[in-house]
Amino acid sequence: MVYKKRFDGRKPEETREIKCAVGVIPNADGSAMFSFGNTKAIAAVYGPKKMHPRHKLNPEKAVLRCTYDMISFSVDERKRPGTNRRSSEISMVVQKALEPVIFLESFPNTVIDVEISIIEADASTRCAAINAASMALAHAGIPMRDMVASISTGCIGGTVVADLTKEEEDYEEDGKKLATDIPIAYLLRSGKVSLLQADGRVGIEDLKKAIALGYDVCLKVGEEQKKALKIQK
Ligand code: ADP
Repeated sequence: MVYKKRFDGRKPEETREIKCAVGVIPNADGSAMFSFGNTKAIAAVYGPKKMHPRHKLNPEKAVLRCTYDMISFSVDERKRPGTNRRSSEISMVVQKALEPVIFLESFPNTVIDVEISIIEADASTRCAAINAASMALAHAGIPMRDMVASISTGCIGGTVVADLTKEEEDYEEDGKKLATDIPIAYLLRSGKVSLLQADGRVGIEDLKKAIALGYDVCLKVGEEQKKALKIQK
């Protein structure tokens, strides 16, 4: 086993530098930026507002519509603009991660649009997207039961770590992929999980460790989110 120390020298439970702020898009009803090192997401919230097409309206609650987009210059090789299968999947999981905390039933026949742009991508973009979107919803004054915080945990060659970089996600020995990426999102007060995915192989004991580590780290992420919301613009 060659993998002993993280490439950037972090401790297993240590995240990259977290930066976040709200009010970054003045024209939106609410907005936020959240970054883990070189992964940076910007989220803008519009609504609750009238929805088109009207047949998608729900007379019982608001529709939460999340759109995730990794912009062309977010990665070294220019990414083809527009939606693809990956962005549709991430839009859906971000929406599912946020839906449980919003009082959607208070706004029937409306839509709440959450537009997320990844302007720098070095793995864990769905987690940064969820963190930015949760802050932007709070900044827009949308009534929420809880805050949502997200982190990627993972297992690299037998070590459980938090906040994987692209280099870590791609780690392999003798041509064999040895990293498993486990993005997770928590509802901070209730401790409930609203996102749990695993890309790769992981044993049950390591998975339990990753889930527990995820909660501890999400609490720290939540502290940063709340700090930024207190000094909101
Ligand atoms: P996440 O960003 O949530 O970890 P993935 O595991 O699908 O989601 O992607 C991991 C990383 O791979 C991204 O954060 C980005 O750094 C890189 N990546 C994804 N899609 C592309 C692409 N089309 N071109 C270049 N890099 C990409």
